[in-house]
Amino acid sequence: MSRLAEDRIGAIIIFGPPGAGKGTQARRIAARCGIPQVSTGDMIRDEMHRETELGRKAQNKIAAGKLIGDELVNALATARLAQPDCERGFLLDGYPRTAGQVGHVDRLLQSLGHRTTVIEIQIGYNELIRRITGRRLCPKCGAIFNIHSQPPAISDVCDVCHARLVVRTDDRAEVIGERLRAYEEETRPIFEVFRNKGEMIHAVQGEEAEEVVFETIFGLLDRI
Ligand SMILES: [Zn+2]
Repeated sequence: MSRLAEDRIGAIIIFGPPGAGKGTQARRIAARCGIPQVSTGDMIRDEMHRETELGRKAQNKIAAGKLIGDELVNALATARLAQPDCERGFLLDGYPRTAGQVGHVDRLLQSLGHRTTVIEIQIGYNELIRRITGRRLCPKCGAIFNIHSQPPAISDVCDVCHARLVVRTDDRAEVIGERLRAYEEETRPIFEVFRNKGEMIHAVQGEEAEEVVFETIFGLLDRI
């Protein structure tokens, strides 16, 4: 039986390099399945908002300009996934990210008894560079454009407030190489841990239009 017809959706984990559209797809899939989208940032904000001990620990790290280590992130995940809204399932977006997180996630999902589906949105290097370098940001109002897929009416001018558009520092060609390398070297090795557990990594072609990618992922979840 399709999992979407069942009461429990289970755990959906979405991976993808920068520029593959992971965040957008994660948000849409979670909304359509009626489950929360859980990212590391959300977990931290949730605990800080509820003023728990973990939330205070995270706040102290952030205030001191320190990185939040795997141990704290894992504890945050344990707390977040035990919330009532996660009972039917949840979508993990950007977590686990490191080798120190994946073992914890694996044990956690087992103890929760959730069926797990791992998806990677893939995209060719050239398309990824084209997409990311095509992004333009309005420094005044924050509107985002893409010279290929969502161009402003007047070249390099914001449609909303008419300010001159800029390229985000993160989207410059030299920074993209670094972000991609981090994904290849730190995140992709995590897949082996899932494979060793007999878990498939479902590859979805991310070069298609947003709607096509969404329907592909949704169709996949409906089938398995
Ligand atoms: Zn603007």
